[in-house]
Amino acid sequence: MTEQKRRVAVIGGGITGLTAAFFLQQEARKQKLPLEIVLIEASHRLGGSIQTVKKDDFIIERGPDSFFAKDQVVVDLSKQLGIEDQLISNSPGKSYVAINNQLSPIPKGSILGIPTEILPFAKSDAISWSGKLRTACDLLLPPSDISQDQSLGKFLRKRFGEETVENLIEPILSGAYSGDIDLLSLHETLPNLSNACRKHRSVIKGIQKETSKLKEGANGYSYLTLKDGLESLIDALEQALEMAIIYKSVRVQSITKSKDKIILSLNNQHSIFVDGVIVATSHQMATKLFEREGILKSLLDIPVNSFATVSMIFPHNTIKKAFDGYGFFVSRSSEYSITACSLTHRKWPHKVPGDYEVIKSYVGRAGDESIVELSDSEIEKIVLQDLKSTLKVAGKPIHTVVSRFKKAMPIYTIGHQKRVEQAKKELHESYPTIRLAGNAYEGFSLTDCILQGENAAKEVIASIFQKELCL
Ligand SMILES: Cc1cc2nc3c(=O)[nH]c(=O)nc-3n(C[C@H](O)[C@H](O)[C@H](O)COP(=O)(O)OP(=O)(O)OC[C@H]3O[C@@H](n4cnc5c(N)ncnc54)[C@H](O)[C@@H]3O)c2cc1C
Repeated sequence: MTEQKRRVAVIGGGITGLTAAFFLQQEARKQKLPLEIVLIEASHRLGGSIQTVKKDDFIIERGPDSFFAKDQVVVDLSKQLGIEDQLISNSPGKSYVAINNQLSPIPKGSILGIPTEILPFAKSDAISWSGKLRTACDLLLPPSDISQDQSLGKFLRKRFGEETVENLIEPILSGAYSGDIDLLSLHETLPNLSNACRKHRSVIKGIQKETSKLKEGANGYSYLTLKDGLESLIDALEQALEMAIIYKSVRVQSITKSKDKIILSLNNQHSIFVDGVIVATSHQMATKLFEREGILKSLLDIPVNSFATVSMIFPHNTIKKAFDGYGFFVSRSSEYSITACSLTHRKWPHKVPGDYEVIKSYVGRAGDESIVELSDSEIEKIVLQDLKSTLKVAGKPIHTVVSRFKKAMPIYTIGHQKRVEQAKKELHESYPTIRLAGNAYEGFSLTDCILQGENAAKEVIASIFQKELCL
C-alpha cells in the first residue's frame, strides 16, 4: 500500500490504551502496514485501575476483579494473548442488601435489583407487602415513553415504586454506576434495559424475555477472572506488544499540530511527532491535552466520583454472623459508610490460602466522598466498625490494603451521549486522525474499554492510511 512509515501514539497505558496498541499492531500485521506504535504512560506501571497485589499466597485486587462470563470480548482477548487457560469462573452466589442496618437477601432472580421471579420476590423480607404490590404494577402499567433520555431513578420509581427502588435497586446501581440514580441517564447507564423497554410493555417482562438465555443461577450471572489476578492481562498485553515502543513515567502535556504532523509535548522536555493518536486517558486529562485548542470542553460536564477499596485479611472464623452470601450492598436507609462489600474467600477461593477470610469493602458515595480523603488508618477503623456491625466480625485484620480511586469513575448523567458526540465532532474537525477511547465515553466496564480500544485502533489506521491513498 505505502512504503512510508507512519507513527501512531497511544496516550495512557490502562486496559483501553493497551488494547488499542495491541489492535494497532494486529491490524498493521494483518494489512502489512508500515506502522510504528508508541505507547506513553504517565505512571511507572501499566494497567491504570487494574492493580493486583500479591502478598504471600494472597491475591488482592485493588481495583476491578472480574467481568461477566458472558462478555465474550475479554475471553476473546485472553485467547489472542494465549492466556485463556488462566480464566477462572465462579458460580453465582447469594447477595444481600443492608436495609435500615439489617441484612436481607436480594431475592433470587433479581437483575440489578429488579425482581424477575415472582415467588422469591413475594417471600422477600426486603420489601413490605404494599411495596411488593406497587412493584407488581409494572406488569399492568402502560409502556413508558423512553424515546427521550431521562433520569434512571425517576423512570424506575415510576415503574416499581419508591420502596423497591430504595431497598433493592438503588444500592446496586449506585454502587455499580457510582452515581446518584436520579441523575444517571437511563439510555447510557442501562442500554440493554432501554432496549428491553422499547420492545415490551412491562420492564419486568422485558428483562425476563431479553435475559432468559443469559441468566445463570441464583442472583444473575457468573463472573470470570484470571488465576493470578487481572494484572496478568496487563502483563500479557505488554509482552505481546512486540512492535510498540513503551514509555513509562512519561506524561504527555499537550497535543498540537504542525503542517502535517501531530506534536505531543512530554514532561521530559521532549516532543514526539506522530501521524495519529489514541487518547486513552481520563476525559479530564483529554480536555487538558487540547487546552490550547480550546476543544473538548463538553467533556468537563461529565461528573466524576471518588471512592476507595479496602481489602482486609482476617484469620479463620473471624466472621461470626451466619452468612451464606458472597457480599452485600448498602441502602441509603442504613448508617454505614461501606457502600458494598464482597467476601473474596468465598467469591474467589483460589485468591485466599488456607482458612483465611478476606473482605473487600467499598467506601465513598456520589455526593459524599470525603471519606476517601481520610488516612488509611482512619478508613480502616470506619470499615472495621461497619463490618463488626454487619457481619459480626470479631477481631482485627492481620493485613489491610487501602486503595484510593480519586475522580476515577465517570458518571453517565442525562445528556452524556450528546457531550461525548460534541467532543468527538470537534476533535474530528481539528484532528481527523485522533480518537478518544476510555471509560468516560461508551461504557466503563473492562469489556467496554477493550471494545473502545479496538475500535479506536481500527479507525485511526483507516484514517491514516486512507488519507495517504488519497494524496
Ligand atoms: C475500584 C474499581 C473497581 C472496578 N471494578 C470493575 C469490575 O469488577 N469489572 C469491570 O468490568 N470494571 C470494573 N471497573 C471499571 C474498569 O476497571 C475501568 O473503567 C477501566 O479499568 C478503565 O480503564 P482505562 O484504561 O480506560 O483507564 P485507566 O485505567 O484510568 O488508565 C488510564 C491511564 O492513562 C494514564 N494517563 C493519564 N494521563 C496521562 C498523560 N497525560 N500521559 C500519559 N498517560 C496518562 C494513567 O496513568 C492511566 O494509567 C472498576 C473500576 C474501579 C476504579
